[in-house]
Amino acid sequence: MFQRTIAEKVSCTGIGLHSGSPVELTLHPARAGTGVIFERTDVGLPVEVPAASESVTATLNATTLGRAGTSVGTVEHLLAALYGLGIDNVRVEVHGPEIPVMDGSAAPFVFLVRQAGIFEQDAPRRVLRVRSPLEIRDGKKRIRIEPARTLRVSYAVDFAHPCIGRQSLRGLELVNGSFEAELARARTFGFLHEVEALWRAGLARGGSLENTIVLDEVGVMNPEGLRWGDEFVRHKVLDLVGDLALLGMPVQGHVIVERGGHALHQRMVGELARRARAWSEPANVADSYAEPISYGALRTATA
Ligand SMILES: [Zn+2]
Repeated sequence: MFQRTIAEKVSCTGIGLHSGSPVELTLHPARAGTGVIFERTDVGLPVEVPAASESVTATLNATTLGRAGTSVGTVEHLLAALYGLGIDNVRVEVHGPEIPVMDGSAAPFVFLVRQAGIFEQDAPRRVLRVRSPLEIRDGKKRIRIEPARTLRVSYAVDFAHPCIGRQSLRGLELVNGSFEAELARARTFGFLHEVEALWRAGLARGGSLENTIVLDEVGVMNPEGLRWGDEFVRHKVLDLVGDLALLGMPVQGHVIVERGGHALHQRMVGELARRARAWSEPANVADSYAEPISYGALRTATA
């Protein structure tokens, strides 16, 4: 029912996926009503870039946000972790043009937030309750959202590869720790020929088997193998959660996706953002996270 932030600031360092250089990331507690805001500390005049659908400037391979000439890339896994843990307000300082890729999943960011602790704030939360179905189709790709009491996701992918093929998750409910248990550890993936093309173009310099599942013609090249047999579709759902986080409030609806990706997710997020004012309402007890507030609430928050 109440908004949440982190109990104290927390930092980590990782590699930027595109640059291949180290990037420092710090999460700070933020006042109720702030939302998630990004701030680059490596540029002269810091510009605040809000995590909002109107800030999206690119959706190719990863989601990039920008405002007034400043951009922050690869935001979706951090945003997914914040959404999955029910964090409404946080200021993200990043010393570079992109959020570090870490292990290619959201788990390191979940760990970071858990380290800081979660603090419940004295301000009511609003939720976006889907009132009527919306659907977007693009060839064989489809995204649909229908009314539901919580955020539920049904997602199917279909890749002509012996390790993937058709994988689907049905009706996964994003409540009470299910993000951490079912999605957070799923890593990003790519096909060897695509990864090689990116490297030849001077892109994805930080990409490696440390942070990407790489598939060659016959199988998974990573020596440790997969974390789940259906890690691919789980990662797609993780990406969707990160994209929905740009609405700035929890969503109550059942999202059904066939062969999605950031671009398709963002088209739905844009449609929902246009209805956000009409469809938002105060959260009630049933919307709150039962698993929760933990130790952080006992500490003194700085915001
Ligand atoms: Zn991803």
